[in-house]
Amino acid sequence: MEQNQRTNGIGTDCVQAGYHPGNGEPREVPIYQSTTFKYDTSEDMGKLFDLQASGYFYSRLQNPTNDYVAAKIAALEGGTAAMLTASGQAANFLALFNLCEAGSHVVASSSIYGGTFNLLNVTMKKMGISCTFVSPDAAEEELDAAFQDNTRAMFGETIANPALTVLDISLFAKVAHAHVPLIVDNTFPTPVNCRPFEWGADIVTHSTTKYMDGHGAALGGAIVDSGRFDWMAHKDKFPGLTTPDESYHGIVYAEKFGREGAFITKATSQLMRDLGPMQSPQNAFYLNLGLESLHVRMPRHVENAQACAEFLEAQPEVTFVNYPGLPGNRYYERAKKYLPHGGCGVVTFELRGGRPAAEAFMKQLRLIAIETHVADARSCCLNPATSTHRQLTDEQLKEAGVPAGLIRLSCGLEDKEDLIRDLRQALDAAGRAMA
Ligand SMILES: *Cc1c(COP(=O)(O)O)cnc(C)c1O
Repeated sequence: MEQNQRTNGIGTDCVQAGYHPGNGEPREVPIYQSTTFKYDTSEDMGKLFDLQASGYFYSRLQNPTNDYVAAKIAALEGGTAAMLTASGQAANFLALFNLCEAGSHVVASSSIYGGTFNLLNVTMKKMGISCTFVSPDAAEEELDAAFQDNTRAMFGETIANPALTVLDISLFAKVAHAHVPLIVDNTFPTPVNCRPFEWGADIVTHSTTKYMDGHGAALGGAIVDSGRFDWMAHKDKFPGLTTPDESYHGIVYAEKFGREGAFITKATSQLMRDLGPMQSPQNAFYLNLGLESLHVRMPRHVENAQACAEFLEAQPEVTFVNYPGLPGNRYYERAKKYLPHGGCGVVTFELRGGRPAAEAFMKQLRLIAIETHVADARSCCLNPATSTHRQLTDEQLKEAGVPAGLIRLSCGLEDKEDLIRDLRQALDAAGRAMA
């Protein structure tokens, strides 16, 4: 589509898109550290409240710093509009809640981030919004059968955190489009490695906390609209977009802002107004610093992860390695299609010696730190059995597909030789624990 076409390369957009200073203006995106904005007349301000003019009045809804950075993310994804949110959780909630209300239903891949699974399975359920989870590997008929009359969105993750399943975006989009839009959480590959709109997704979300910021500095999220879903063609399903909003004097978002702008304008002017999970302009500034080098960093994360995965696969202390870039991986072919330049820096693997081996391994690491985080410059790892999943027994862990010896490794930007050396000496300790 015309409006989604890229003129510059992705690297140029990482560095320069979104903010274009005029003569004598700051070269770097300024931080508008202001909650409010000043006007000469009440009429000027009134037009903003009626959505008759665009401008700023209160930073819970919009702030110029955030808008510059959101515009860069829209350019990177090839979308028509974008907004920042306080976190990735807020991005996924607002994207879904912009389409759903009590009585609605969502179809979601079962292989998604734990926080999003909980959001759909527990918290949104309490709001009267139900969810059917489908396998990311389900066939077309099976996916289609999950839809109901009240389904309002389909949801999946390009590369799931931490299962590392790869979504068949084209298939999900094809099935979704008979009913509703497809929302794809593109956090792990980032638009440098995959742009879901090119494969048919309608809305993209991000936890910018991960690679986009990339330095573990600022929590944040983003929502991007492809501008392609025809809300008016599904008028009855999305009354929030296609019938008058009385809180803005009867504006119909899909009419006034068109396909390109309706979704993000509604999410900003209703959901940010009423719920308020706004990103601080200071965090947006940090996020932009991260975005300026995203295209340089992602290939290095991938290179390090590929090297560590290949190394681990050859070690006797390791029973299996899960990384879509390994030829034996279940998602290898799908990853080649959707992620030709590689996926992300996260690798999971299981130690043969189970819990004692995992404990010895973690204790022995020198460079790679123990953290409940992934996707920043410093390599880190986690043993779910002794941290995020520590309430479960070894039996329950096995059932959940998270065996006690499982390690999640997030490869940072260090030299791969040093990471491998650190892994090797920690594997020696794991080996001694088994003996
Ligand atoms: C981390 C993560 C989230 C949640 O993001 P926060 O910024 O921590 O709220 C959502 N989706 C995916 C895929 C993630 O990895």
